[in-house]
Amino acid sequence: MTKAEITARWTGQQWSTQGLRDWSAGMTLKADYVRAEIATGKTGGHHCHWPGCTRKCAPAAWGCREHWYKLPPALRRRIWQTFRPGQEQSKTPSREYVLVAREVQEWIKQNHGPLKG
Ligand SMILES: [Zn+2]
Repeated sequence: MTKAEITARWTGQQWSTQGLRDWSAGMTLKADYVRAEIATGKTGGHHCHWPGCTRKCAPAAWGCREHWYKLPPALRRRIWQTFRPGQEQSKTPSREYVLVAREVQEWIKQNHGPLKG
C-alpha cells in the first residue's frame, strides 16, 4: 500500500469511535502508514522523544525503536489511539495526543529518571 492509499483509507473511517475489531484494523493501518513514512527515507524527522536520546526518528514515529519498546503497552496504545496521520506534517497533533505525550514524559521520569549522564 502506498502512503496516499493509506491516507485515503484513513480519512474514510472513524477509528476512535468504532469497536475493537475496527480499532485493531486501524492500528494495523497506522503501522502501515508509519512504515510507509519510514520507507520514504525522509530525514526531516525529529529526535526521539525520550529525554536525552538524540536518535533520529521518522516524523510519524514517537521515538527510536529501543525507547518506544521501553514504554508500557498501555501508553504505547494510547499514543497510537491519539495519533493522527498527517499531524507530523501539519504540526497540529490532537489535544489528546499532547496530553498522552506529557504523560509519557512523566512516566519516564518516574520509572527511568533521574537521567544519568
Ligand atoms: Zn530513543
